[in-house]
Amino acid sequence: MHSPDVTAVFALPDEAATQRVGECLATAIQPGLVIFLEGDLGAGKTTLSRALIRALGHAGPVKSPTYSLVEVYVFSSLYLYHFDFYRFESPEEFLDAGFDEYFNDASLCLVEWPERAAGCVPAPDLRLQLHHAGLGRRLQAVADTPKGQACLNALIQAMAAASSSAMPAPR
Ligand code: ADP
Ligand code: MG
Repeated sequence: MHSPDVTAVFALPDEAATQRVGECLATAIQPGLVIFLEGDLGAGKTTLSRALIRALGHAGPVKSPTYSLVEVYVFSSLYLYHFDFYRFESPEEFLDAGFDEYFNDASLCLVEWPERAAGCVPAPDLRLQLHHAGLGRRLQAVADTPKGQACLNALIQAMAAASSSAMPAPR
């Protein structure tokens, strides 16, 4: 049975705030998760992904997969696949490329522009929806599965801890 969706909203006034979400997400993920990153061009999907991949320990550059379609990162505990389907002309390109094999219990799949592979890409556990809000951004996170819900709960806790540690110490 489908569990009720869990939703959280975060205000992201600047790029550092988007990066903080990626860093906090690094403490909340587990292998087997599928995370969709939704939002217009420039909403911050790659910025968030890059911060997550760096926080997991990747020291080199983190390229946007816009041209390559997927970038692969190997960590001790998981394979991370960072997809971007912006350039797909039809969702079937997902199957033609054999990307369905990348979605398994040992991998974390981060997907930018999942709507361009609609009907072919597996359903997400967690959807991170980024919106422009003035000069900053607003993030709505929606958990669709128990695994996604556990990840979102851990993310909420990590974000709360990060913002309280960012507050000036009482005098
Ligand atoms: P996308 O992958 O969604 O197309 P990118 O992450 O490549 O977007 O680009 C987002 C742009 O917006 C970058 O220039 C980044 O510095 C900026 N940015 C990211 N988060 C914020 C934020 N919370 N407030 C303002 N600017 C942001
Ligand atoms: Mg991008």
